[in-house]
Amino acid sequence: MTITAKPMGPIPPEFAGGGALTIAGQGFEHWIEAAGSTPAYVHDMTVVSARIARLRAALPAQVDIHYAMKANPLPALLARIAPLVNGLDVASAGELAKALAAKDPRHISFAGPGKRDIELEAAIRARATLNLESEGEATRAIAIGDRLGERPRLAVRVNPDFELKGSGMKMGGRPSPFGVDVERVPALVARIVSSGAEWRGFHLFAGSQSLDTMAIIETQAATIDLAARLAQDAGVEPPLVNLGGGFGIPYFAGDEPVDVEAIGASLGEALVRRSGVLSGSGFAVELGRWLIGEAGIYLARVVDRKESGGEVFLVVDGGLNHHLAATGNFGTVVRRNYPVAVAGRIGAAVEEVVSVVGPLCTPLDRLADRVALPRAEVGDVIAVFASGAYGASASPAAFLGHPPVMEVVAG
Ligand SMILES: *Cc1c(COP(=O)(O)O)cnc(C)c1O
Repeated sequence: MTITAKPMGPIPPEFAGGGALTIAGQGFEHWIEAAGSTPAYVHDMTVVSARIARLRAALPAQVDIHYAMKANPLPALLARIAPLVNGLDVASAGELAKALAAKDPRHISFAGPGKRDIELEAAIRARATLNLESEGEATRAIAIGDRLGERPRLAVRVNPDFELKGSGMKMGGRPSPFGVDVERVPALVARIVSSGAEWRGFHLFAGSQSLDTMAIIETQAATIDLAARLAQDAGVEPPLVNLGGGFGIPYFAGDEPVDVEAIGASLGEALVRRSGVLSGSGFAVELGRWLIGEAGIYLARVVDRKESGGEVFLVVDGGLNHHLAATGNFGTVVRRNYPVAVAGRIGAAVEEVVSVVGPLCTPLDRLADRVALPRAEVGDVIAVFASGAYGASASPAAFLGHPPVMEVVAG
């Protein structure tokens, strides 16, 4: 019986050269030693720096780049990214504390529903910007500011009346826990301004993981138009319009990267055309996975090689406890294969069809389903690419009690 291989996503070009995998100029075993053992995430800063530089060159000069920290909050990585971007966007007091160690609070903004009073207070004390998700949150933030004798820096997150097409996770155009519905925004802005708080502007985020360049371009143009309409109705200029992000990266077979140069050029044209009410505003995009996703590699060692029912299973020393997304259990409907390889033999001839499974007692723990690879033996290392975003911090590390994953920053 021959088993048909299922497709997998493209290995990012930086790592697709033949032979043993090198990361930031060193062989992968060097980085496993630096991490201490497998399983390990290795994040290649040379790739991150190149992505940020490319985006910077593509975007109009007046558009800032923010890093959305929830994509990967690893402090060693954050310390390296923070100086390369204009701002950090956080979504909890825990992320805020890490961000404050890396960036001036004037360049930190805090979004996310359900901010507790102690979180609002931490942001107000630190003088970070709060992206308010509701009228109730505004009331509490203003009251906390009064109590502390501090002037809160407040922006309004808008629930846009459109969504980012082709986006893996839609966050606009429907009833939502995120942001304030468009028709209620002007009144809220007026209330913020009259409270004496420092008015910081609008935050709009219409979706995530879109590979549709045209859809991103149209969404950005619609976002600028909406911000102008809201500013007009509220009667105040927004100092900053955070346009959101949503740039996806290729994970699966057939995925094509977004064209950031085309996005930058169109954004430049949209800004030239913008309404006069936004003439003094600054702009930002906030990105997580596009900046770091392709820079990260999950490395796990083969512990057992077994056959069952005519199929080969490579059992590796980590799985969904460290990398839920690669097993298809984080925000995907259909399970598809991330790019994987035998780390010692990138590009070598395919010899067999195997499934790569983790050590957890659940059939969900499958890093690769029936992929064609060169033959791997016990002791070989399997690399899962496109693993820099939504990895360790987005995985159930405590499930089954295996050791936590090691993480190192390379380069
Ligand atoms: C998650 C999130 C991001 C980052 O999304 P990516 O797909 O990682 O770029 C940006 N902004 C907000 C508001 C988010 O919730």
